[in-house]
Amino acid sequence: MGQSAVAPSPADSTERAVEGLLSNLRGRAIRPSDEAYDAARRVYNAMIDRRPRLIVKCADVADVIHCVNFAREEGLAPAVRCGSHSVPGFGTCDGGLVIDLSGMKGIRVDPVRRIARVDGGCTWGDFDHATHVFDLATPGGVISTTGVGGLTLGGGFGHLTRRYGLSCDNLISADVVTADGQMLTASAAENEDLFWAIRGGGGNFGVVTSFEFRLHPVSTVYAGPVLYPLEKGADVLRFYATFMAGAPHELSAFFAYLIVPPGAPFPEEFHMKTMCGIIYVYSGDLKKGEQITRPLREFGPPAFALGHPAPYPAVQKMFDGLLPHGLHNYWKGDFVNNLSEQVITEHVRYGPQIPTVHSAMHIYPLDGAVHDVAANGTAFAYRDVKFTHILAAVSPDPAPMPSYREWVRSYWSALHPHSAGGAYVNFLMDEGDERIASSYRGNYARLAAIKRKYDPGNLFRVNQNIRPAAT
Ligand SMILES: Cc1cc2nc3c(=O)[nH]c(=O)nc-3n(C[C@H](O)[C@H](O)[C@H](O)COP(=O)(O)OP(=O)(O)OC[C@H]3O[C@@H](n4cnc5c(N)ncnc54)[C@H](O)[C@@H]3O)c2cc1C
Repeated sequence: MGQSAVAPSPADSTERAVEGLLSNLRGRAIRPSDEAYDAARRVYNAMIDRRPRLIVKCADVADVIHCVNFAREEGLAPAVRCGSHSVPGFGTCDGGLVIDLSGMKGIRVDPVRRIARVDGGCTWGDFDHATHVFDLATPGGVISTTGVGGLTLGGGFGHLTRRYGLSCDNLISADVVTADGQMLTASAAENEDLFWAIRGGGGNFGVVTSFEFRLHPVSTVYAGPVLYPLEKGADVLRFYATFMAGAPHELSAFFAYLIVPPGAPFPEEFHMKTMCGIIYVYSGDLKKGEQITRPLREFGPPAFALGHPAPYPAVQKMFDGLLPHGLHNYWKGDFVNNLSEQVITEHVRYGPQIPTVHSAMHIYPLDGAVHDVAANGTAFAYRDVKFTHILAAVSPDPAPMPSYREWVRSYWSALHPHSAGGAYVNFLMDEGDERIASSYRGNYARLAAIKRKYDPGNLFRVNQNIRPAAT
């Protein structure tokens, strides 16, 4: 009797594909049955609870290429993870492949040419550590644990932005593994369309394994917080808007409603008190810093004001302790043209209801060097607004999150009609295609066309997704 051939089941062929991938990796693969799985699937925002089929902690570019090929061939959407700070949870997924770059942390600084080449898994803390010994820096975010990857690809702003532009404006080139498994260099000279798209277009176009950044001479800055009583909120907001309009670009300052953290440098009498404040950083000549920032410490007068020289990386870590991994986060934001009287009225109404010491209502300046680039010069389209705000409810306890989320939503709904229309993509939750399109304004059609060229099958869709343009 002859033997009949038994067709392999789909499960067998998937398992064989997984085994094939694993045999090619230098990094570590973690499956649901592994002890390390639960820790490995967690991201920064504890509200995100997803179960990927496979998590690969990549060791090098070859691992990334194998992962991208595997995901495409197996029809699995890859979630790309750098610092894992995406609040909507794009660093993980259900049933797909996590390409975790967080072990790829190589950095090479060329202090003479003022250039840093940074692997795709570095955080801003890694970056600042490597560049500060040379008294150099580039604009990054205001928390050191945020990933260079997600922040830069969405635009990226921080204390140096008014002076030196967005993080993406300081990008010289990037190595990108595209959906077909090729590695392309994107720069002003090579694959210019891809280079244009990754400067604001998020993780839509491939996995960036290496970023090359321009550096600037920044070492010790003059910085401090200023606190004001709540009843001065409207006056402080008016003063802040006027002061920033005339402030030199070496100065960055953001306005906040906050519950004062119970620790240094704040005096005990203010601990856990709801107040408003301005946090400023002056990165120019230190002798001028004290004088230029004096009006911030004198207006009102404030309830508390501090100003002192500090190493730039210390300032970058100022709020790390308040915002560790594993808290429950819900955010919304928008770009804003002006702090009009209507906007100020809504801030004064909702800001003082800030729910926890971890939560934030911040208004960041987005003028200065951000305006030096044309709206269509990179994918980041909002080059004419003065501010972007973030309304963030953050809590260690999940139970009250529904009511905190309502605070964010009502606050946002009151402000949105007075906004510039769209939001910074890195401040969006899962808010739908229209919100994504409005966040790119006139640049969206070009982004969709470039997406069609580099990722026609929309492999990279675990992100603020730009769908490939129809042919
Ligand atoms: C506490 C906190 C503070 C923040 N402060 C700032 C701030 O000061 N300024 C600011 O601009 N933003 C800030 N953000 C927002 C931040 O820019 C976004 O959350 C960003 O997505 C974080 O990047 P990540 O690499 O840490 O996140 P991840 O969750 O690891 O990545 C998010 C997404 O980015 C893409 N991505 C990341 N790395 C790569 C890569 N190497 N190649 C391809 N795609 C990649 C992927 O689509 C990925 O899913 C902050 C966020 C948090 C939580």
